[in-house]
Amino acid sequence: MTEHRRVLIIGSGPAGLTAAIYTARADLAPLVIEGEISSTSDQPGGQLMLTTEVENFPGFPQGVMGPELMTAMRAQAERFGAAFLTAKASAVDLSERPFGIWTGDRSTEPPAFHADALIVATGARSLMLGLDGERRLLGHGVSTCATCDGFFFRDRKVIVVGGGDSALEEAMFLSKFASSVTVLHRRHELRASKIMQDRAFRNTKLSFRWNCVVEEVLGDDSLQAISVRDVLTGTSETLDTDGLFVAIGHVPNTDLFAGQLEMDAAGYVVTRSGTHTSVEGVFACGDVQDHVYRQAITAAGSGCSAAIDTERWLESVQHQAAAAAGAA
Ligand code: NAP
Repeated sequence: MTEHRRVLIIGSGPAGLTAAIYTARADLAPLVIEGEISSTSDQPGGQLMLTTEVENFPGFPQGVMGPELMTAMRAQAERFGAAFLTAKASAVDLSERPFGIWTGDRSTEPPAFHADALIVATGARSLMLGLDGERRLLGHGVSTCATCDGFFFRDRKVIVVGGGDSALEEAMFLSKFASSVTVLHRRHELRASKIMQDRAFRNTKLSFRWNCVVEEVLGDDSLQAISVRDVLTGTSETLDTDGLFVAIGHVPNTDLFAGQLEMDAAGYVVTRSGTHTSVEGVFACGDVQDHVYRQAITAAGSGCSAAIDTERWLESVQHQAAAAAGAA
């Protein structure tokens, strides 16, 4: 049977949970489809569940662990009456209201939910290099999450690929465990912020390989080495390593909405006038619609905006319906 909800939120990172707190406190009894663990980089709570210390979320002068912050946000939403479903949304129908949301097979089942308003907060996921061995050895020496797997590399040699803040954050975290950490970057200039670069260059366990790309990830049952190519000279070399951490950015989780919501060239949901999407009654917040700031605090802020936009929109629809009924 299809359950009706006034507000349904897909995603449980800082954006989804903040939207849940605000809509719950507005008495809209939201349901959050929070996702489920399906890979090392995909789980309820979003990317902060894969992070160590968050130093820039206001209110935590000593920093806070990512999972601790997300657990607290979830508890806060629950306290005001938000409900959670640990499942993945498998399909949506945004062609008419109430919107249909499935968690099972759309071809054989009715929608699990009908929602008057939908808040999309599905975030973004880690990009991969796209090499055969990388997928095969994920969890066997290859990782996208230093927080999850760093512990396994105590006194081992690891390589981090990427030149952004994520790569340096992963590298610095890994330097607490590993005997050596090499950051391998395809250019000779880091993309990371100045403060992260300064910290990384001061870290004596970190070294840098510039102008290098990974050609092959080698190993049968577990990672043994990687083959890298110098992009300036064209020469290849094999580097023995115990761990390979891929930290080259993220891609928005928008497959579910393909062909139904307007997206930009990179696949991020386009929002206008705050968090309104191209479909009336559908709102988007957090990394799924933000490739500029991509911070926990900006995601949380846009989650708050989405909740307020949703509440106002529901109210206006209700007023219009009441006015139409009065006129009839
Ligand atoms: P990013 O800034 O897009 O950096 C991705 C890095 O990976 C770039 O250096 C890029 O190289 C490299 N790269 C991309 N594709 C590659 C490929 N196929 N092969 C090899 N290298 C590749 O992504 P991010 O580091 O995940 O950061 C995303 C956003 O989150 C940024 O705004 C960042 O500031 C923020 N962030 C902040 C913190 C923090 O403040 N603590 C932590 C993490 C992230 P090029 O430089 O050559 O393009």
